[in-house]
Amino acid sequence: MTQKVRTRIAPSPTGFPHVGTAYIALFNLAFAKAHGGEFILRIEDTDQARSTAQSEQMILDALRWVGLDWAEGPDVGGEFAPYRQSERMAIYKKYAMELVEKGHAFYCFATAEELEQMRAEQQARGETPKYDGRGLLLSQEEVERRLANHDPYVIRMKVPTDGVCEFEDMLRGTVTIPWEQVDMQVLLKTDGLPTYHLANVVDDHLMQISHVIRGEEWINSAPKHQLLYKYFGWQMPVLCHMPLLRNPDKSKLSKRKNPTSITYYRDAGVLPEALLNYLGRMGYSMPNEAEKFSLEEMIASFDIKRVSLGGPIFDVEKLTWLNAEWLRDLTPEQLKQKILDWANDSDKLTAIAKAIQPRISLLSDAVNWSAFYFQNLPNISEADFEHKTLNNEQTLEILQFAQWQLESLPEWTEENIQAVLTGLANALDIKLRDFMSPFFIAIAGSKSATPMMNAMYVIGADMTLQRLRHAIDVLGGIGKKKIKTLEKRNAELEKFV
Ligand code: GLU
Repeated sequence: MTQKVRTRIAPSPTGFPHVGTAYIALFNLAFAKAHGGEFILRIEDTDQARSTAQSEQMILDALRWVGLDWAEGPDVGGEFAPYRQSERMAIYKKYAMELVEKGHAFYCFATAEELEQMRAEQQARGETPKYDGRGLLLSQEEVERRLANHDPYVIRMKVPTDGVCEFEDMLRGTVTIPWEQVDMQVLLKTDGLPTYHLANVVDDHLMQISHVIRGEEWINSAPKHQLLYKYFGWQMPVLCHMPLLRNPDKSKLSKRKNPTSITYYRDAGVLPEALLNYLGRMGYSMPNEAEKFSLEEMIASFDIKRVSLGGPIFDVEKLTWLNAEWLRDLTPEQLKQKILDWANDSDKLTAIAKAIQPRISLLSDAVNWSAFYFQNLPNISEADFEHKTLNNEQTLEILQFAQWQLESLPEWTEENIQAVLTGLANALDIKLRDFMSPFFIAIAGSKSATPMMNAMYVIGADMTLQRLRHAIDVLGGIGKKKIKTLEKRNAELEKFV
């Protein structure tokens, strides 16, 4: 019997829900459905320092909103639960030990300093830094002595030092990577937790994943994974590495140049159907060349071989055009409903009501006071930022520091926003009133608006950060050299949260 098709999306909950995640999820879902299979979701949160519950929730919400449903996952359960790697830690350790016993993996007691010195020496000799296999030289007695001594260790996998690794990719055919380019990967870290590679392979096997469809950035991991499957004696899923999404200038899609968060597009008023349709056109074309198509239509004629490897360009203008096509095809009644649904976020509306209450005399005043909460990017120019004490350069610095600091907040709460902005104002020695002035323009497009820190909280992280980036652009942007200096200063600033 041939294996049932099972695909998965395996996001790491370390930030905003990225459009690239929805893109890969879409192709996994379309492939599974087109073959009568299942699409599942697994959370890869082995990096405990960077993973957050808020990010996981945002990713699940965003993928659901866009219309991608999974048959199994941390929120819906399933036969292979748990679907969150942090709840599966004991499993990985057991498999790492199995590889050690079989002689495919080994203990390494090298300290960080020792490895640092090893790399420095390799570089001095003009070699590419790489783990040199020193752990393999330890005798059995030495390993036992050090274990008994409770010396910290990692477990690494053995990797051949010469020859080439060959593996098949559904889109690329046979891919060849020389083994000397492959590091003896750490599988289990000093804290006993697995790395991505071990956890990913073990789970894909245990969850009976038949096809791994993922971004091209993982292609260099495939040799390690292939080896792990071989060491365990398991059949490897079929691999498929999708081309990466790109900015219009062909560089890798980045939030510096394009909004990348799904929630931003939702808040800006892109229909989920239109976003999914647009992502379905990334590197892919329908057999009838249709530009506008639904998920069902895509599944009905889906063929992964139609994916082309030229870097697909994610262009906000084209997405907006496609969204307009979707809007035009609605009846006025349907459109009315879409608008109401989009605006009808009860918590947000209550927060806005609270903020405008002291400022309005007629209900109709609410329209002007609340417009900026719903808008996309405000219509502003450099002149709007003119200020009696702040010049253009200072304004740019304020906005850039704030953008960086807010972007790295562990959680988007009003207290955290307040801590960052008041902390920055103090650190830069600018009166809070003056310091906040550019934010009124950047966020509300006006010098007078409701209390700004609260408004930023209500508007949400993605839209706030996008408006800050937009304001920086409107002010002429910051050159590469200047960015470097600011990055350095930002790193020296204390963490306010
Ligand atoms: N956790 C990985 C990610 O964040 C999954 C990569 C894979 O699909 O193997 O993309």
